[in-house]
Amino acid sequence: MADTLFTNVRILDGSGSTQPYTGSVLVSGNRIRQVGRSAAAIAPSSFSSATVIDGAGATLMPGMTEAHTHFSWNDAATLAAIQTMPLEEHVLWSAKVAKRYLEAGFTSCLGAACAKPRLDVVIRNAINAGQIPGPRYLAAGQEITVPGGLGDEMPPHLPFPDYSFGQVVNNAEDMRRVVRMFLKYGVDSVKLNLSGDNFVPGAGSHTTWMTDAEVAAAAEEVKMRGKRIIVHARSCASIKQALRHGIRLIYHASFTDEEALDMLEAVKDEVFVAPGIGILWALLWEAEPHGVTHEQAVAMGYEEEWAAACESLRAMHKRGIRVLPGGDYGFAFNPHLQNMRDLELFVKHLGFTPMEAIRSCTLYGGQVMMRPDELGLVKEGYLADLVLLDGDPLANLSILRDPKRMLAVMKDGVFAKAPSFASQRSWDRGLERAA
Ligand SMILES: [Zn+2]
Repeated sequence: MADTLFTNVRILDGSGSTQPYTGSVLVSGNRIRQVGRSAAAIAPSSFSSATVIDGAGATLMPGMTEAHTHFSWNDAATLAAIQTMPLEEHVLWSAKVAKRYLEAGFTSCLGAACAKPRLDVVIRNAINAGQIPGPRYLAAGQEITVPGGLGDEMPPHLPFPDYSFGQVVNNAEDMRRVVRMFLKYGVDSVKLNLSGDNFVPGAGSHTTWMTDAEVAAAAEEVKMRGKRIIVHARSCASIKQALRHGIRLIYHASFTDEEALDMLEAVKDEVFVAPGIGILWALLWEAEPHGVTHEQAVAMGYEEEWAAACESLRAMHKRGIRVLPGGDYGFAFNPHLQNMRDLELFVKHLGFTPMEAIRSCTLYGGQVMMRPDELGLVKEGYLADLVLLDGDPLANLSILRDPKRMLAVMKDGVFAKAPSFASQRSWDRGLERAA
């Protein structure tokens, strides 16, 4: 693997605590070997040959992490339309989406459920084997739910489990059976739908669905295998239930009270919240062409949930609880690759500074991927997951979702999207000596 030297770049290291500075970065193999903190490039004596990328003042920052990803959501308007895509097409779709995420600057994604049992695992394995391009990926199974809850899409007159978006379990032993099935398939995370969702008639966001016995059975199995439980938890009771069972990655967390916030704060060094607020915004304001008018969205409870979520998440951020971007992109009204709009919403509605918003997909990204000592920063020794951006994301976060501004993406020391600069050149010490 050839070394790569980025010169003349504005380094935004992803820590949230260092202002950007002009410098150069040497990548050797799949690691960041050296970070130079001056306009002068790193001395060539420190390496033998490298491809030199003159960044011409572009921003070099860590690759981004999406904390709540659904590769297999196929940009359809309903869960049923996602679920009924035939398996063969679904595998190809998921592979295509994985590639697009990587090229868009997501070098890490955390799978938050897939639409058929093994889709995520197969895509992760293919990425890791080098068969297809894609981000570092933690694979989930399908959502696990109970009859009538979010993810039980089975029509009463067609009692076929494959019609269901999620795996429906009906008691603690049934939960154990399904969790063990996903663990057998090789998932990194097991996803439970603890709360409802306003999307589902009769199972709104305030409702809570699983018994403690069911959650405990899942937690026991997953813990025994050293894996992670992740949960859909919009209602206040479901957030508390998750925390009581030791669950440390909570999706949505819209409705809280003082007790829930105190419980989150008590484990703030362990817990992550990835709210996926983009879809609330999209349903309220952008879903009309896809069949949901603003009035309908309000009637479904989305205005109330948006307000509650903003209040909850602002409070969490103030208390130092890690809130991460991403989530539920892959619907017609909330399509893939707009994910980093979440950062703009964090700043506009949740009280984040732009620097804090970026930290939530860099430093916190490495942490949520369970690789805090080697992922998520531009730092010597860290894995070379980098993006080169035309412009300053601190001044304009929207450039993070503009493919034209994403000049280059590197994962594990290899370009997924190579820069096309005229100034790119090879520097070879041997040749220089010969001359
Ligand atoms: Zn989700």
